[in-house]
Formats: sequence, C-alpha cells, structure tokens
Amino acid sequence: MLSLSQLSHCYRHQNQESMQLSFDLSVAQGDILAVIGPSGAGKSTLLAMIAGFLKPDSGELRINGEVIDRQNPAERPLSILFQDHNLFPHLSVFDNIALGIHPGLRLSTADQAQVKDAAARVGIAHYLDRLPEQLSGGQKQRVAVARSLVRHRPLLLLDEPFSALDPALRQEMLDLIASLAKEAGITVLMITHSPDDALKIADHCAFVEQGEIRVCGPTQQVLGEPEDERLRKYLGR
Ligand code: ADP
Ligand code: MG
Repeated sequence: MLSLSQLSHCYRHQNQESMQLSFDLSVAQGDILAVIGPSGAGKSTLLAMIAGFLKPDSGELRINGEVIDRQNPAERPLSILFQDHNLFPHLSVFDNIALGIHPGLRLSTADQAQVKDAAARVGIAHYLDRLPEQLSGGQKQRVAVARSLVRHRPLLLLDEPFSALDPALRQEMLDLIASLAKEAGITVLMITHSPDDALKIADHCAFVEQGEIRVCGPTQQVLGEPEDERLRKYLGR
C-alpha cells in the first residue's frame, strides 16, 4: 500500500507568487487510482515526489509500510511508465525489456525466459529482435509496459502514458494495464486527463487542484455527481 502524509514541496518563482503543494493520500495494495485535475494543478509534481525525482520539503512517504523518503529513484519499490516510452533506440526490443531486470544486461537463463514471457503477455513476442524505430507507437508502449512488468515492483506510476494514442489503442492499453495490475496485485497510480479513462479502469479517483487533493473516493462516486464546486467546473458540469 502507498501512503503519503503531508508530502510537500514549494516551487519558488522569481518576481512571482510561489506555489505550495501538499498531498495526503492512501492507496490500498492492488488498487488502481486515477489522478485527475487541471493543467498546472500539481499532478506531475505528486508523481515526481513519489518516484524520488523531486525531494519533498517535508512529509512522509511509505510503500508497504516502509518509509522510502531517503531512497534513490532506482531503489524505490516502483516502476514508471512515461508517455515517450523511454526506449533506447540502439537496443533491440529484447534488450529494452531486459533493462528492467539488469541495467548491464547480464541475464541468467531464467531472466531471459522472463523477458520472453513478459513480451508474450503484452503481445510483442514476435518483435524481440526489432529496434524501437521499427515499431508503431502502440508497440513501443507495450515494450515499456513489458519492461515495467519484469521489474516486479509493487507500485506502477503512469503520467498520461496513453494520451498520444488513438482511442482504440488507448482502450487496449488501459485494459492491458488493468488486467496486468489485477493479475500481479500491483498498485497503480495513473495520471490522466480523461475522466473516461478513470471510469474504465480506476477503483478510486483523486481530484488534484492547486497543489492538493481536494476530492478522493470511489471513481463512480467522485465523477458521478460531484459536490465539489471546482471538480464540477473541471468536469464541465
Ligand atoms: P500538472 O502535472 O498537474 O499539470 P505540475 O505538477 O507539472 O502540474 O505543476 C504544478 C505547478 O508547479 C505549476 O504551476 C507549474 O508551473 C509549477 N512547476 C512545475 N514544475 C516546476 C519547476 N520545475 N519549477 C518551478 N515550478 C514548477
Ligand atoms: Mg503533468
């Protein structure tokens, strides 16, 4: 389970008001949480603090009960899926997935089998020898998903990973994430600008506004008939 207690950061701008962000959040293991909210609300900052790319000024961050504030990004029990896939252009699909297991690509026979298994699960088993440039956008995204699968981390973070994909493919990737998450009991935190995406796969939904989580609850409830004025405005109600 993921829990944040007043995890805070302040961006200071010259000649402008500074922006204070502070997050309280608790997500059960195996839960899929969608994070929605207007541009500039602080969604990516929230993710950056969890991932360890941005050092919080104060507060506490726990994964499975363990305080991880001091761990480097690479040590944290999580993996991240970016919109731009983060694939290495000079490495094959196989090696790009294998990087999730060993950064130096020294793989045991069991590791190699695991790479192939992950590729099969996301439907790219036939492309293992290709370079990223020989793949479509959707296939590249699958490689990135396979890489996060072989890492076996209990938490998966996604920052609008599928917003550049066309609707059918996006739906497919959402289904893939949801089924993989449920199969492996992975907790998922997914930033999305689409309430529809949230309704499709998220158990819970958090609405971020002006650097804080204003509303959080079961997705249907949060998006169905919201009472919060700003959430209504965001949803165009
Ligand atoms: P979102 O992902 O919800 O669009 P962000 O977390 O990217 O929002 O940004 C939240 C706020 O913090 C915005 O007002 C943005 O301008 C500001 N901000 C983001 N990154 C930085 C940074 N590196 N330095 C200063 N201000 C930043
Ligand atoms: Mg963002």
